[in-house]
Amino acid sequence: MRDAFFRNKKNNPFQEICLNNFSHGGLPVGSLYPNSYYCGMSNLGFQSICRLIGEMKSITLERYFLESEKNKRLLSYENGIDLGRLKIFLASVSFEEDVLLMLGMLKRAGIERDRRKRVFPIIIAGGAFVTIAPQVFKNIADVIYTGYLGSHQKKKFSNILQKDFQEKSTLLKEFSKIKGAYVPDYNTVNTINYPESAEFEESVYIAEETQFSNMLLLEIGRGCPFSCCFCSLGHIYKKVLWRDEEEIIKICRKAHRTSKERLNNIGLIAPVPNFHPQIKSILKTLSSIGFKVSLSSLRVGNTDKEFFEIFKKCGQRTFTIAPEVPGEDEREAIGKRLKTEHIYECLTNAFSAGFREVKMYFLIGIKGMDNKNDVLELKRFLNAIPVHMKIKLSFNPFVPKPGTPFEMKEMMNKTKLKKLMNLIKKEISSFKTVSMKFGSLKSFELQYKIAHADENTIFNLHFS
Ligand code: SF4
Repeated sequence: MRDAFFRNKKNNPFQEICLNNFSHGGLPVGSLYPNSYYCGMSNLGFQSICRLIGEMKSITLERYFLESEKNKRLLSYENGIDLGRLKIFLASVSFEEDVLLMLGMLKRAGIERDRRKRVFPIIIAGGAFVTIAPQVFKNIADVIYTGYLGSHQKKKFSNILQKDFQEKSTLLKEFSKIKGAYVPDYNTVNTINYPESAEFEESVYIAEETQFSNMLLLEIGRGCPFSCCFCSLGHIYKKVLWRDEEEIIKICRKAHRTSKERLNNIGLIAPVPNFHPQIKSILKTLSSIGFKVSLSSLRVGNTDKEFFEIFKKCGQRTFTIAPEVPGEDEREAIGKRLKTEHIYECLTNAFSAGFREVKMYFLIGIKGMDNKNDVLELKRFLNAIPVHMKIKLSFNPFVPKPGTPFEMKEMMNKTKLKKLMNLIKKEISSFKTVSMKFGSLKSFELQYKIAHADENTIFNLHFS
């Protein structure tokens, strides 16, 4: 029998609990995640949109995922409402391939994909990928929102959505006045909205079938001070904002009470979570309450032995770091200013604290990992690791991201990437404690094409 702590709705096959009392009744407004329930409910941005819609008094939230398709229609998880019958919905697009998945969902729901030929539904697109490549959405979405939705913008969205919006043009004009909202019919200037003051998100649903099963996700920081040349995060959101320690603890205690001590997992989210100025104290308090605490990938630095000892007490047995390339000079050249000795020091500290497993991210097809010498350098890098740990290497092809200094770089072609991958496999397979995982070349090639598409060419791209 399923745990009574979780409940599901008529049209929702998944088990979850909603921590807020959302209003029911009133105009249905959709929140669409163009990927699986598993991915969508693991995404804090999507959850914050659900919260925004769910908390509006005269509106009912209707969620849509890839699995929402039933009998050639896309039906919401809440009340089984057909996506094609909605007047308006918000789509959260975090990753490149989600654009094509979204276009596929529109087609299956019988919705015109080109906004210039569509009357309803009005589509508002937002999310990480929309922020870095808004041009892709110019002929798809009626409103393209870039950046974060601050409380001021949320209030405006809420006021507009709760008005009677028979007149599409009036509604779009209203949206065009919101900072960060690009409405192709009414404005041409696209300003990324980045709230100056600290406003953070946390899960509104605790769900079982997600990447972070039964875990409360809590944003503890925004922005990254390191500006690596290949990463959008450090270029779009330069200003770093940290969530107040007291607030973090208060939210976790409340969630603990609400879930009658059944919620024991907390995921602290930030681009560089271990750089939160009070991270040790936060982890100590949360583990003393009885939480198992996870952190998104660590940035080497602020990773002394004490940090790892505390992190271990939070129930962790493994952690993730991202050296990106094995050579120190090349790392510097791609903007990841990280000395190899500091990576080794971090691993030694983790080992001394009892960690025996680490996952490391590497890029391939970028300066520092684009030829045989670099692969040999990787061998030297692994050989010189001063402690004996199980090492999981994850290799992903470098995709030049819009909005970064490497935006205009070419992506290495598939044949060369394949050769490089085979060479890595051959050279590294002799390491007994090292395992390797490679990102799909087809998928990364498509990501590159999508990220560099324009408002017209996006319609010609397909999954092959
Ligand atoms: S790769 Fe990491 S450290 Fe570098 S800019 Fe991105 S989030 Fe920051």
